[in-house]
Amino acid sequence: MGYNTYFADALNRLHQERRYRVFAHLERLAGRYPHAIHHTPDGPRDVVVWCSNDYLGMGQHPKVVGALVETATRMGTGAGGTRNIAGTNHPLVLLEQELADLHGKEAGLVFTSGYVSNDAGISTIAKLLPNCLILSDALNHNSMITGVRNAGTDKAVWRHNDVEHLEDLLKKAGKERCKLIVFEGLYSMDGDVSPIGKICDLAEKYNAMTYIDEVHAVGMYGARGGGQAEQQGEMARIDVIEATLAKAFGCLGGYITGTKELVDAVRSFAPGFIFTTALPPGICAAATAAIKHLKESSWERERQQERAAKLKADLSAAGLPVLPTDTHIVPVMVCDAEKCKQATDILLEEHGIYIQPINYPTVPVGTERLRITPSPYHDDVLMQALTEALIDVWDRLELPRKPYSAIAAE
Ligand SMILES: *Cc1c(COP(=O)(O)O)cnc(C)c1O
Repeated sequence: MGYNTYFADALNRLHQERRYRVFAHLERLAGRYPHAIHHTPDGPRDVVVWCSNDYLGMGQHPKVVGALVETATRMGTGAGGTRNIAGTNHPLVLLEQELADLHGKEAGLVFTSGYVSNDAGISTIAKLLPNCLILSDALNHNSMITGVRNAGTDKAVWRHNDVEHLEDLLKKAGKERCKLIVFEGLYSMDGDVSPIGKICDLAEKYNAMTYIDEVHAVGMYGARGGGQAEQQGEMARIDVIEATLAKAFGCLGGYITGTKELVDAVRSFAPGFIFTTALPPGICAAATAAIKHLKESSWERERQQERAAKLKADLSAAGLPVLPTDTHIVPVMVCDAEKCKQATDILLEEHGIYIQPINYPTVPVGTERLRITPSPYHDDVLMQALTEALIDVWDRLELPRKPYSAIAAE
């Protein structure tokens, strides 16, 4: 019937727009992070990974791997069904208690991913609020945008981190109307943080609910890894805290925390929670081990911050256009989709360095970049090799070796 030509045509459009994604064929090595094996047509090669969201290397931590193996050995692999059918496995009960405690909330609810937790969480909460208006930050993650869309309620987008714009929209909506403000604690592409206290001030002034995505901050900020809200001393003022178990906690799954009633309502009404199999017990136990460890240990957090600061200083000293950030994210601006892809190809093939190019639609056209995420385990030797490799790439692609502020001003 020739249906296949539609798929081929769609792929061709992606290729023409330089947006076709290629996934590197990698094999992670527990205990040797950030080293990994790159499977190439010419056989396996060693690479150093510089863009993982396993930010603290918890995915290979002996306590975390140990909990997974030990629990799977005792309880088996899968959960055996939805929670309605199979019940809630014991490690999942403990995980939800751990999460509620992490964020100082009454209850927690775990989903199969952070993506699903935002989609199900935002849409279900907004649907349960009569005539709700969702106020969404312009740079919110795709999973939040999907949640807003699936709520089917009115929405208004406020300019990124612009609290004056947010206040205009809140004022227009009026104090009486139900309003849900959705935003992130830390935006992972520019590495900037949100003014959480100011947003909470406005939420109180105009009687709005607050929902924060702390996916890129949990485990890494705050004295116990509670995220930017803990770091900024505002955790108790936020109504719903959402995050992932898949980044700094090194496992899989997502969650929301909030009041007993809110969590029970989402549990009872969200299709994305109800009609899908629960996380395996081993994963729940592993995530709990990672959270518990990072509540008590600050070594990983402090070392990661120190490593990120050093890398930013090294790259800036080499004249590379680092986007200044206050966080663990180190964006190096290429500002050209084609060269961004070429740069990462050269890094991988000739320098054994893996960094995925970040292109449109993840970031705006003209702001294509390398998004580098140094972990506690990227040492000085690896950093020097990265700096030298980037200088080589910049020279060969004739990219400007000057501060990003100078490039952006042109
Ligand atoms: C990665 C990400 C998610 C989704 O989390 P997963 O657990 O990977 O599904 C949600 N929000 C933000 C901001 C993210 O970057």
